[in-house]
Amino acid sequence: MSPAQASALAASPRDGTLEVLRERGQREVFCGLTGIVWLHRKMQDAFFLVVGSRTCAHLLQSAAGVMIFAEPRFATAIIEERDLAGMADCHAELDRVVDRLLARRPEIRTLFLVGSCPSEVIKLDLGNAAQRIGARHLRSETGEGVRILAYSGSGIETTFTEGEDACLTTLVPEMPAEAADAAPSLVMVGALPDIVEDQFLRLFGELGIASVGVLPARRAGALPPVGPNTRYILAQPFLGETARALEDRGAVRIDAPFPFGADGTAAWLAAAAAAFRIDEMHVNRVIAPGRERAKRALERYKPALEGKRITFLPDSQLEIPLARFLATELGMVPVEVGTPYLHRAHLAADLARLPAATRISEGQDVERQLDRVRADRPDLTVCGLGLANPLEAEGLATKWSIELVFSPVHGFDQAGDLAELFARPLRRRDVLRI
Ligand code: SF4
Repeated sequence: MSPAQASALAASPRDGTLEVLRERGQREVFCGLTGIVWLHRKMQDAFFLVVGSRTCAHLLQSAAGVMIFAEPRFATAIIEERDLAGMADCHAELDRVVDRLLARRPEIRTLFLVGSCPSEVIKLDLGNAAQRIGARHLRSETGEGVRILAYSGSGIETTFTEGEDACLTTLVPEMPAEAADAAPSLVMVGALPDIVEDQFLRLFGELGIASVGVLPARRAGALPPVGPNTRYILAQPFLGETARALEDRGAVRIDAPFPFGADGTAAWLAAAAAAFRIDEMHVNRVIAPGRERAKRALERYKPALEGKRITFLPDSQLEIPLARFLATELGMVPVEVGTPYLHRAHLAADLARLPAATRISEGQDVERQLDRVRADRPDLTVCGLGLANPLEAEGLATKWSIELVFSPVHGFDQAGDLAELFARPLRRRDVLRI
């Protein structure tokens, strides 16, 4: 990023040091299966088969809502008690379920076998199962292959956005190798709602970046090529393993803050443009209208949010960039920003712009964190569903962090909606007080 483009964000209020409070205790977060809720919408010819318990099935159904008319793109192969007791051959059972599914749904191009707590407890090797079943289904009736992949969404191993990271990591080896003489290309990494993805692709096109791919792609056949001429930019901050897998294949990460708000989005786009040596004046011309639109949208919310104190409990891994957005673009005061995992390199640009007094914590010890919320009494606490009701009962306004993952919040045209998500609970609280 050039100095002028880097200044798209306010100068760093930190002095480069970073103190982090490390917490290791009881966690209150969804497991990685939750990612299926947005991933199955994104990958239109993929199917997610959770190998899990009735609890896993209930979690998915209630998180995704019950789809009555649509043919769903996810299901749970239930592990019964006799399976857990080792009385049944789970592999043979799984083979039967997959064969039936693929015979009934020939449009499936990628099948994810998703591990859960029960499949881990009985040490069901889904990686091997994917290879074994994949070899049998190498060619479907239509002559196209069905790709069978496996990852874990278990609550023992993953918090909820890590499910996406695990899923995308399995896709990286499937990406074709770029041609030896390939021109530099860009891959945007992280599942975004289609409308947001289209906005970014249009802007990259206007900037003059000729070859842009997306991971995850909407269709199995559209996975972008990867190699040493590939530059990738993260759209989500929770993709550490995916990034590592891309780098193993030669791709180089573009360092940028995450695209939230007017300035965050401008700096993200400018960083991508700088990696492709695009003229700065042209970049400013392309970015200016959207940035201005976003700034105007944010102005509406400033009176409600400016000076308000906010705490994030660790949940989605979006906490650091969102706190940056709220502090630098809306004047909120982050008191504590907790995140399940802190990827310092990926979050460096956002971390540097958090106010120096912000307490940053990594990991979770829920009781200690709740004690700090009670002592701090922020105006707004962003937390998981299970913690919101008790805090509300204690007179603290809350925001469900899961809404921030499910809603379109990236980019210029969503900046106002993102601010609204924080303003609404404060407004509701004011109304209730009257
Ligand atoms: Fe619960 Fe584990 Fe299933 Fe997630 S994977 S729903 S934590 S049993």
